[in-house]
Amino acid sequence: MQPFTGSFTQQEPIADDAIAAAVEVLRSGRLHRYNTVGDELGPVAELEKAYAAYQGSTYCLACTSGGYAMATALRALGVGAGDRVLTNGFTLAPVPGSIAAVGAEAVLVEITSDLVIDLEDLEAKIVASEPKAMLLSNMRGHLCDMDALMAVLDSHGVPLIEDCAHTMGASWNGRKSGSFGIAGCFSTQTYKHMNSGEGGLLTSDDPEFMARAIMLSGSYMLYERHGAGPAPEVFKDIRLDTPNMSGRMDNLRASILLTQLGGLETNIDRWNARHDLVADRLRAMPDVYVPHRPKEERYVGSSFQFLMPTASTETMKQVVTGAKALGVELKWFGADSPVGFTSNHQSWRYVTPQNLPKTDAILAGLLDMRIPLTFSLEDCAHVADIIAHVVGHALQKGAA
Ligand SMILES: *Cc1c(COP(=O)(O)O)cnc(C)c1O
Repeated sequence: MQPFTGSFTQQEPIADDAIAAAVEVLRSGRLHRYNTVGDELGPVAELEKAYAAYQGSTYCLACTSGGYAMATALRALGVGAGDRVLTNGFTLAPVPGSIAAVGAEAVLVEITSDLVIDLEDLEAKIVASEPKAMLLSNMRGHLCDMDALMAVLDSHGVPLIEDCAHTMGASWNGRKSGSFGIAGCFSTQTYKHMNSGEGGLLTSDDPEFMARAIMLSGSYMLYERHGAGPAPEVFKDIRLDTPNMSGRMDNLRASILLTQLGGLETNIDRWNARHDLVADRLRAMPDVYVPHRPKEERYVGSSFQFLMPTASTETMKQVVTGAKALGVELKWFGADSPVGFTSNHQSWRYVTPQNLPKTDAILAGLLDMRIPLTFSLEDCAHVADIIAHVVGHALQKGAA
């Protein structure tokens, strides 16, 4: 088998129109979001306006990172020291990190083998922990049954914040991911769906919540220079009551993102063509489970996951090593020690240890890979061939 030579961390270059927009900002010298002339909207305010329109939300705040957007959302909701916040047992470290940032305690909820939140465990944990909020992570772009989730949360009066780092552009039953609860949090870090190096977007329809978020982000008294913010009256007391925890986006990043937003829908189609090609190939294999995608879900296939539910630790290790030898980087979440990104709850030692047998069993057989748009469809077919070969071989060996 020919090894694959593409890079799993290589994103597409920033397009010429985005580079031109960035150069214009650099030439102007006005990189700070509030450094505007007259009543022009600067690039950050323009981005907020454009992203709110894309998302279908009333308000949008651009900030420094997805993690900052989540911590700001929790603060703006009034979550603080000692409060309990529900989140997924399987997510990326910035999620429990944002809960820790506000001094709250993460209550981890089990996931299912479709990599979404387990609604039964969720309800049990709502009753047991009396949480102040839920920070749902749409981890690796898998959406749970959002209608069923909202029914559970609403019946217990638990407000929802959505981590949409992997679901920017996704929707459930035609409704955008990030618009189900009080807030949606997005990341524009290099490995997400738009690339400004670092960056975050926070959306909401709630005027007071957004006014608090804007003040928290460090708007001084310049909140009227926002592209999708609430009316000035809403800030009357909030501007004096809310501390400044600077985390503004700058015009340089916003200018790059503004031009990228126009290409997002096309890129979603490109990601899904690549994702589905790999998924269809692996789904056809015995002893491999590819998470189910309900018809209500419009996903963004920027990464691909599959499970080997019956495989031993030894077999899993063989798959990872075998794939790596042929140039394919698979991430395995069952490893003892975190490699690269940390997504196993056992490596979050700042969180009170919690017993998640179901999640642990799923992670033990879960493999994951990025699908950068620099891969052609032929590249993806090659990668799928390698995975199928290595998995088939390891399973055969395991059975022998
Ligand atoms: C990347 C990511 C975030 C936010 O990350 P930042 O690096 O803070 O922008 C949040 N949740 C998940 C699941 C992520 O992968």
